[in-house]
Amino acid sequence: MTVPGPRYGVLGWPVGHSRSPAMMRAAGLELYQRLPVAPAVFADTVRALGAAGFRGANVTIPHKEAALALATTASDAAREIGAANTLSFGEDGSIAAENTDAPGLMAALGRVPASALVLGAGGSARAVIWALRSAGTDVSVWNRTPERARGLGARVVFSAVAAEVLVNCTSVGLATASATFKDLPLDADLLGEYATVVDLVYRAGGTALLAEAERRGVSIIDGVEILVHQGALSFSIWSGRPAPLHAMRAAARDERSEDDRG
Ligand code: NAP
Repeated sequence: MTVPGPRYGVLGWPVGHSRSPAMMRAAGLELYQRLPVAPAVFADTVRALGAAGFRGANVTIPHKEAALALATTASDAAREIGAANTLSFGEDGSIAAENTDAPGLMAALGRVPASALVLGAGGSARAVIWALRSAGTDVSVWNRTPERARGLGARVVFSAVAAEVLVNCTSVGLATASATFKDLPLDADLLGEYATVVDLVYRAGGTALLAEAERRGVSIIDGVEILVHQGALSFSIWSGRPAPLHAMRAAARDERSEDDRG
């Protein structure tokens, strides 16, 4: 008789779009599934996962703050960011929270930039600003609602400023490509002033921001690459092994995996 291996999943609401199941199964976590959980039942559901055979879960919108709140232990990074994207379930009922979004961004960048302009002040922007500042980068932040950008430890700016790296942490560009240069304080012709442009948004066919940056010879990092690196760090936390990055990247980039809603 084969004993089913430990179970894993990604908690979100909705979560049907997530490429994490394809990516994590490619890494060897065969029993990794989508866990669509409404906010009202999030805490009770997550507390039951350990007894149901789950060893770990990734967490996405809108549950990252709630995940941190219900954990029994949390890393300094998760506490300081105020959000967790990786939970580990102990046999004793314990729940450990970690944030791999922040180190995932730095791994994808592969260097510590001298300066960065971050667009956005939501959950992902908080992790990105924390990661860059902790590494020693001078960070400016722009947000549509400037009040939300205060208190994040970065200089609040009201227009795009020059920097080595530009990171889009808004959801602009996800639904409508044409919104990018209307809703963000960016001029496509000035993108060449950044050495690297990072877009956390990922969508089939890529984003307008990265297409325009690439046309101007700027090095680009897309949201799938960020997803792969945060997922690789989650994999290593659970398995204690280095992640098979190539296999994970190939699965995450296979847009046919969008149809695999298992
Ligand atoms: P969030 O907490 O909901 O924050 C959304 C941000 O987008 C806020 O700063 C918001 O500004 C801004 N925004 C929304 N609509 C806008 C518009 N029309 N014009 C200007 N700004 C607008 O979301 P999040 O968790 O930070 O995620 C942001 C994006 O990153 C999402 O598309 C998500 O899918 C993506 N993401 C990708 C990864 C990855 O691994 N690649 C990881 C995390 C997130 P206001 O404060 O003014 O509302």
